[in-house]
Amino acid sequence: MKENTTTKRATIETAVFGSETMLAPAPTDTIPRQPTTPEIAYQMVKDETFPQTQPRLNLATFVTTYMDEYATRLMNEAININYIDETEYPRIAVMSGRCINMLANLWNSPEKAQWKAGALAIGSSEACMLGGVAAWLRWKQKRKAQGKPTDKPNFVISSAFQVVWEKFAQLWQIEMRQVPLTTRHTTLDPEEALKMCDENTICVVPIEGVTWTGLNDDVEALDKALDAFNKKTGYDIPIHVDAASGGFILPFLKPEQKWDFRLKWVLSISTSGHKYGLVYPGLGWVIWRDKKYLPEEMAFSVNYLGANITQVGLNFSRPAAQVLGQYYNFIRLGFEGYKQIQQNSMEIARYCHEQIARMAPFENYSKEVVNPLFIFYMKPNYLKSAKWTLYDLQAQLQQSGWMVPAYTLPAQFEEYVVMRIVVRQGMSRDMVDMLLTDIRNAVAELEKLKYPTSTRLALDKHEPVKGKVFTHTHDCAHCSGKK
Ligand SMILES: *Cc1c(COP(=O)(O)O)cnc(C)c1O
Repeated sequence: MKENTTTKRATIETAVFGSETMLAPAPTDTIPRQPTTPEIAYQMVKDETFPQTQPRLNLATFVTTYMDEYATRLMNEAININYIDETEYPRIAVMSGRCINMLANLWNSPEKAQWKAGALAIGSSEACMLGGVAAWLRWKQKRKAQGKPTDKPNFVISSAFQVVWEKFAQLWQIEMRQVPLTTRHTTLDPEEALKMCDENTICVVPIEGVTWTGLNDDVEALDKALDAFNKKTGYDIPIHVDAASGGFILPFLKPEQKWDFRLKWVLSISTSGHKYGLVYPGLGWVIWRDKKYLPEEMAFSVNYLGANITQVGLNFSRPAAQVLGQYYNFIRLGFEGYKQIQQNSMEIARYCHEQIARMAPFENYSKEVVNPLFIFYMKPNYLKSAKWTLYDLQAQLQQSGWMVPAYTLPAQFEEYVVMRIVVRQGMSRDMVDMLLTDIRNAVAELEKLKYPTSTRLALDKHEPVKGKVFTHTHDCAHCSGKK
């Protein structure tokens, strides 16, 4: 049988699984010559995704995997709307502006204008880029005015940065200076950060909801230290807060904590509408303290389909549905509704954190849970005689449908293999109890092993696992004393 051809054309009567298409390998290189019925095409595509983890059992992701029926309906109904067609769909642009206003106010923006300075993005990645580019252009403009060189910009961030910052550094050729995390300084150390700052520093980027650990950098302490530093040096290095997760957690659960525009040097903040903003993927936001911090070069005025629109963003066309989803959530949930959902996620995360700590093999990375996620690792003493690793636990849990990722922490950190659990809307106490039971059962099975697993052997031999060099816990059986 030849790939990608249907000798007998499917008709409306053809049974899906009686069709030639279902007998042929899936098209991978060329478009099939002939069409098939929508039922068959649907089934093929749907089945391609069939063996994957159920999104709600995917505890690796921060991104929304549950929205209510009305939100889903609204978003599906808007699936054919391109956000950029503002002339044709002006109400969507207005809705986006309202969301920007609400976020700016939620983050205590001092801006008085009716429409606050901000932009819609595809996710935090685009939002971070926009915040970073704005900081870079402001710095460049100031340096040019002073007749100083602008060829060596840098920014300062902790080594637990999300990959978007590496992209930002690479794409715009801006040096990324990393403040290493240590077991003593598990978040960005302001003093260490300042040591890396100079006249070429475009901004410092603290993270609220560090992707790798779930912790928050102390923006208030950084702001204070930076204020003194700027006074002393005459620089005016600002802060961009990467609040991908924290931007939608802190205002509801820790309103007294200052991390936002209440702080002097915070000029921009980015967040993911599709993380704890509770909208399905494809949404981010960036807000500036005031329009004057959004460089004019970034606002493109385009004459498009007969109207002049101002656009800030890397993408041009983009889906509008997410804006409807965000605005719906704001109306549907209100402040109190968001608070209840985030509180539940937090309580479930704390409960899970406490239960994990009670299991013999594990130790939590942090005593505190400040965002609804946490990481844990194997107790060094347990690991010494264990015949398995967290990678094996991950594989075991996958058998019951859970995706709980094991990974190594960023370089420079003490070399931990950790496991992370992210709790989101859609995770109930009952579900987490099922997960905990599955973890206990998996551990019981792994403890019965007579011989070490291949990942455990790799650990002893320093071999790469899953394409990565397998690093160790700080007191690995094989290496203790050698480090
Ligand atoms: C998730 C995340 C990003 C990237 O966000 P996307 O919305 O996935 O594009 C950036 N920074 C941090 C801290 C994150 O957690």
